Amino acid sequence: MQTQIRPTTSGAGTTVFTDARLIVGDGSTVLEDAVITVQDGIVVDVATADREAAGRSAREAQIISCGGRTVMPALVNPHGHIGYMRGTVCDPAFYSRDNVIDHLRRFVYHGVSTFQSLGTDLNGVEVAVRDDQRSGLLDDPDLATLFTAGAGIVAAPSGDAGCGAPFFAVDAVHQATGPEDARAFVRRLAAQRVDAVKFWIDDRGGQSAKLTAESSRVIVEEAHEHGLPAAAHIYSAEDAMVALDAGADILAHMPRTPEPDRALLDRLVEQNVAVFTSMTVQGPARTAWLDDPLVAETLPEASIDDLRARMAARAHEPLFDTGKTYRTMRHNFEVLHEAGVRLVYLADTGVFAQLPGIAEHRELEALVDAGLSPLEAIEFATRRSSELLGLTDRGLVEAGRRADFLVLDADPLADIAHTRRIAAVVLEGRVVDREKLSQQLLAAAR
Ligand SMILES: [Zn+2]
Repeated sequence: MQTQIRPTTSGAGTTVFTDARLIVGDGSTVLEDAVITVQDGIVVDVATADREAAGRSAREAQIISCGGRTVMPALVNPHGHIGYMRGTVCDPAFYSRDNVIDHLRRFVYHGVSTFQSLGTDLNGVEVAVRDDQRSGLLDDPDLATLFTAGAGIVAAPSGDAGCGAPFFAVDAVHQATGPEDARAFVRRLAAQRVDAVKFWIDDRGGQSAKLTAESSRVIVEEAHEHGLPAAAHIYSAEDAMVALDAGADILAHMPRTPEPDRALLDRLVEQNVAVFTSMTVQGPARTAWLDDPLVAETLPEASIDDLRARMAARAHEPLFDTGKTYRTMRHNFEVLHEAGVRLVYLADTGVFAQLPGIAEHRELEALVDAGLSPLEAIEFATRRSSELLGLTDRGLVEAGRRADFLVLDADPLADIAHTRRIAAVVLEGRVVDREKLSQQLLAAAR
């Protein structure tokens, strides 16, 4: 049994993490026997032991041995929906400031340093939490950094067609009656200094009204006017084309059907549009991951059993189709990747079976399932996703960046599911007290 890595109270001063096998996060570099020197939360030096970095400040420094374990950058998830899930159930009745904060804490427990909520902020709660975090009013080091698109935009109901909102966020999103109404709402979002603008182009299988091409164009135009990236929810290749014509910067999902053709692939590459992978929200159908001990560390058994039963019962519903759609997406991932499209990791956390903190690790597994090497998948979920958020202060374990990393009990390069074998989470140089968080999170989920 390896020695435990004990929690520390602060990242202030100098801490030297020794005896680490370091996955830097750039998709290729692995350093054996690495020494990571951290000063006031920032990595100031990464060296291999033979260069003897630790000696320099060893007298004042706190030395923490990683015991030969693998270290990788903390995960960064730029697309999910927090505040709606309690235990394993997603319901608007659960939405609250406390629940948003609970989810930010779940992220830290699982090694996710940074999260962007994409368009389902109810009554400005997330914008307020984000502002309080940035101003220091919400001073809790065990919370992931929150980014938010505030409330997104869907088409207002018309005739028999309902509004195009996701089922849990009907009251959160803005239901635009036309292009100028949509424009006015983007101005309100800009006044809230949201981090992105989200809009939905989707008729939900013919059930809902869909934003028009003109409304989509106006939304992107106004977002860009305020320097904000615009993210379009799409499922079909046809709607993806509408989003591209509108000038969207991000497709919030991969186009599913029909398979992306040459024209769509060329446009995606030409316009350098980021396409979110979002695979695990559609499965795969397996539920074995619910047996991972990590899941029970923050969720009561009854709640886990309940999700297992619901997944089995709903496996054949179209929206919960965990077989065919997943296989389509895995195939389309290969097509898009092969074409050189800028694919970006996300976990669509907080809906269906996307448990906050767990979903992030499952998406890594899906990326490897779709053909990436574990090193490439980790780069997708660290450096690449940080860059999408415009963050250059995290995403890699290298000098000058925040000391946010995971220490793992097993090798993720041998099996990507080993990213769940977390021995310690380090955030800004501080070893998080996960034992304390586990108790807190379990209590909140009951
Ligand atoms: Zn989403």
